[in-house]
Amino acid sequence: MSYKRILLKLSGEALMGKQNYGIDPARLEQYALEIKKVKDQGVEVAIVIGGGNIYRGVQAEASGIDRVQGDYMGMLATVINAMAIQSTLEKHGMYTRLMSGIKMEAVCEPFIRRRAVRHLEKGRIVIFGAGIGNPYFTTDSTASLRAIEIEADVVLKGTRVDGVYSADPEKDPNAVRFEKLSFEEVISKGYNIMDMTAFTLCQENNVPIIVFDMNKPGNLQKLIEGKEQVGTLIS
Ligand code: UDP
Repeated sequence: MSYKRILLKLSGEALMGKQNYGIDPARLEQYALEIKKVKDQGVEVAIVIGGGNIYRGVQAEASGIDRVQGDYMGMLATVINAMAIQSTLEKHGMYTRLMSGIKMEAVCEPFIRRRAVRHLEKGRIVIFGAGIGNPYFTTDSTASLRAIEIEADVVLKGTRVDGVYSADPEKDPNAVRFEKLSFEEVISKGYNIMDMTAFTLCQENNVPIIVFDMNKPGNLQKLIEGKEQVGTLIS
């Protein structure tokens, strides 16, 4: 097994599946089964989930809502997604804990680093909701920060494309996918992987990132087993 403890970042948008808004139950099921495959192999799994399928802070100003207020709305959206994932994972027999960057005792534990690590050691999947709990950040930054804090071996950024390309593969037929890139190459070539805050956090703390297609069945497991090349590794 190439990774013992992973931080899986899932975007909120991915949860929409074929819908225009909200949560597609089929997508939740699919993700839960993919996660179960790696959990069953003894990998410690932490998850950060976005909220873009429900609300993003940047939308706020356009609708006359204060930006900071909007960011908190976005963070609450991630908790809704996190609760949905938690429930689906538990339905499939996995043990989970939801830890939130904003205190809300009725639905989740507050984020306490030592406790998060303990949960992982005990085999529980830890889901980090509400981002880092501060406005002007993203769930990508949350993924990087939490990965560093819990000493994850890697940040796995699950997307709908199978890695980083030299150009947009949906527009340019000559676009090629990279198997590996350095952090410096990503910056100098301007490849858009995550926001800079999230990206430099990983770079400065030597946490590799793998961008991969989470929607392709079996991909997460293949990546963990390391027998086949999956996605793009940035290290
Ligand atoms: N957000 C925030 N602080 C955080 C994490 C998230 O303010 O630490 C807000 C921000 O407004 C963001 C929204 O929550 O737009 C939803 O998260 P994100 O856009 O990262 O979700 P994704 O694009 O992954 O679905």
